[in-house]
Amino acid sequence: MSKKNYSYWLKQSEQLTFARQAFINGQYCDAQSGATMEVTSPRDGKVLTSIAACDETDVDLAVTAARHAFDSGVWSNKSPKQRKKVLQKFAQLIEQNSDELAVTETLDMGMTINDSSNMNLPGSVECVHWYAELVDKLYDEIAPTHPNAVTRIHRVPLGVVAAIVPWNYPLMIACWKFAPALAAGNSVILKPSEQSSLTALRVAGLATEAGIPDGVFNVVPGYGHTAGKALGLHMGVDALAFTGSTRVGGLYMQYAGQSNLKRVSLECGGKTPNIVLADAPDLDAAADGIVLGAFSNQGQICNAGSRLIVERSIKDALMEKVLERVSLLRQGDPLDPNTEIGPLVDASHLSNVARYIDLGREQGASLQAGGQKIEPLSGNCYIEPTVFTEVSPEMAIAREEIFGPVLSVIAVDDLDQAIEVANSTVYGLGAAIWTSHLLKMEKAAKAIQAGVIWVNSHDHGDISSPVGGFKQSGFGRDKSAHAFDKYTEFKTVWVNLSGV
Ligand code: NAD
Repeated sequence: MSKKNYSYWLKQSEQLTFARQAFINGQYCDAQSGATMEVTSPRDGKVLTSIAACDETDVDLAVTAARHAFDSGVWSNKSPKQRKKVLQKFAQLIEQNSDELAVTETLDMGMTINDSSNMNLPGSVECVHWYAELVDKLYDEIAPTHPNAVTRIHRVPLGVVAAIVPWNYPLMIACWKFAPALAAGNSVILKPSEQSSLTALRVAGLATEAGIPDGVFNVVPGYGHTAGKALGLHMGVDALAFTGSTRVGGLYMQYAGQSNLKRVSLECGGKTPNIVLADAPDLDAAADGIVLGAFSNQGQICNAGSRLIVERSIKDALMEKVLERVSLLRQGDPLDPNTEIGPLVDASHLSNVARYIDLGREQGASLQAGGQKIEPLSGNCYIEPTVFTEVSPEMAIAREEIFGPVLSVIAVDDLDQAIEVANSTVYGLGAAIWTSHLLKMEKAAKAIQAGVIWVNSHDHGDISSPVGGFKQSGFGRDKSAHAFDKYTEFKTVWVNLSGV
């Protein structure tokens, strides 16, 4: 039996101390205004600590430090091999502190310790290692222009990159952004979500310990409408790498337009369909994928398979399997490694999710499971995994991102209708299809507008394969070598050789 049982994690949680200050120019510091934000755990509603609440003054200090570091060449002019060594050390330090970071994440935003320690932390460490390893294996290009010219195409860093991230996988999504941005030679300012800043603040100190020079990696915790907006509008920021809601993604495009046309990349919301056709090779595997896809991290995943689109002839057989699995999900304290469903991120988000459940009922969907708030611990953040059938594509629960544990089941007659329904939202992040028919699989993969299509699986991923959206799910890609496109610019150098 693993030593990392419930009592191990409880003990870890009791021993925690938190990094509470912003990290600017290699130093932990309070917000200049002295303002702080209280951090409350959704696990039990208890106050964990309070942290710096940065505003535009702090953002300005961070941008000045980041710009100075970039212009000095202390990082941007290091050889890729030197940057690789430092980033490898950074990854090692994150790994050495994995248990502490995993518990911190669980307390801060409610992710189960299982996800946090077995997925979020290993994924974060792997990501930083992967970009460290990649950066000294990228070659520039020579364009085939003319015998009397050498035309080089270089990838160069952009300068100061602001990474703005959400609360659902706080550290891993931050790593998806800062690791390639730093590897490419940029200076980075990370703005974590006000609902989940603790791990970002902790790893800031590890960056310095790893050898990242002062000013190259900064963390400014704060509210979106103050710290986030200040980064969006700052004339000294060269690029915004955003993950979050579609609504706020749109604001960042406005901020860029109102200021210096800084480059924007957006990873936004989703309403992922899981299409199950009558010829699916294994209904048990499909039911497993559907339940995992809809309810992991309490459904708070951009790619959550929140719509099940099922061919009518197998609907009853599939739903029996899905509902049985849902009834077995273990819900409770996220620090217990046996828990599969923990709390939502906070009580106000729970109210949003509950409102959608009410809407589902009012609009005529049939509640098959869940729907109730529960109170395994205090704090008002727990709600049962919820399943609606008889959902039609026009209903709010079929179209809008709920970002909670709510599965909407829509029955269709055939693949063509399934594709039409799958494409009938403003989102296009991911989609899955379960079929054993090669041509149907290819047809769906071609016709569905989404950044990732899974066949006979759901939400599988690897650091080597890109994620990102079509339509209002955004543009630009995280993960894989393609992420460098967000953090580098091409520079052409044309050397005239005539007369040589
Ligand atoms: P959010 O949009 O509310 O917040 C994201 C970030 O933007 C936070 O750091 C927040 O402080 C900041 N922000 C909020 N209001 C702002 C404002 N007025 N001006 C400037 N900045 C502001 O999103 P969230 O609730 O933290 O996260 C959930 C959303 O993130 C969901 O829509 C989910 O689908 C999306 N998400 C997308 C991906 C992806 O890869 N596509 C991954 C994870 C989460």
